[in-house]
Amino acid sequence: MTRDNSQYQKRQQRLKEKIDARIEAAQQERGIVIVFTGNGKGKTTAAFGTAIRAIGHGQRTGVIQFIKGTWESGERNLLIQQGVEFHVMATGFTWETQNRESDTAACQTAWKQAAAMLSDPSLHLVVLDELTYMISYGYLELTDVLTALKQRPAHQSVIITGRGCHRELLEYADTITEMRPAKHAFNAGIKAQKGIDW
Ligand code: ATP
Ligand code: MG
Repeated sequence: MTRDNSQYQKRQQRLKEKIDARIEAAQQERGIVIVFTGNGKGKTTAAFGTAIRAIGHGQRTGVIQFIKGTWESGERNLLIQQGVEFHVMATGFTWETQNRESDTAACQTAWKQAAAMLSDPSLHLVVLDELTYMISYGYLELTDVLTALKQRPAHQSVIITGRGCHRELLEYADTITEMRPAKHAFNAGIKAQKGIDW
């Protein structure tokens, strides 16, 4: 028993030394770019979870949603009440509008609002929800996005969500989490539902 405990203590001490060394080594303080991508559920909700964390600390946060224009969402209802600047792209799902010109124009309008946020030093966090599709559909130039990210205020963090994130955006990001769909209720025929899916 005593022997077990002393081994345990030794192991914990070694672990503590390792962790302390890593904490000591992480000395940079700056805003980061986080990408939530992959095919699994949780990208947008992870972005809003982080936004709620920031807002809870009184840090100013801005949100642009690229795509889900005509949908109601619980997160929007809540964050607007908190005085968060929240813009949603003017069109609904793009496979419903089927008009390349109007989709591109809507995206460019939303991007202007995003670019303004990315140059606003009073914003601690900017969420660009579903941005990845704007690049893959060709509504938005990758270089415009990279330039705006690189020129943003040093303390500002940015979260980008969406499937199939462009390789160069991934290269620039500091933190990437890939959601993997181990199982999804929808595939068992369960309808998307309020409070869970939007
Ligand atoms: P959430 O908004 O729930 O965090 P998400 O942002 O990861 O999901 P999106 O690709 O933006 O997912 O899809 C939006 C909608 O599709 C959400 O209602 C989500 O629940 C649903 N969804 C996400 N992943 C899957 C999947 N693998 N199969 C079916 N539906 C999914
Ligand atoms: Mg999403």
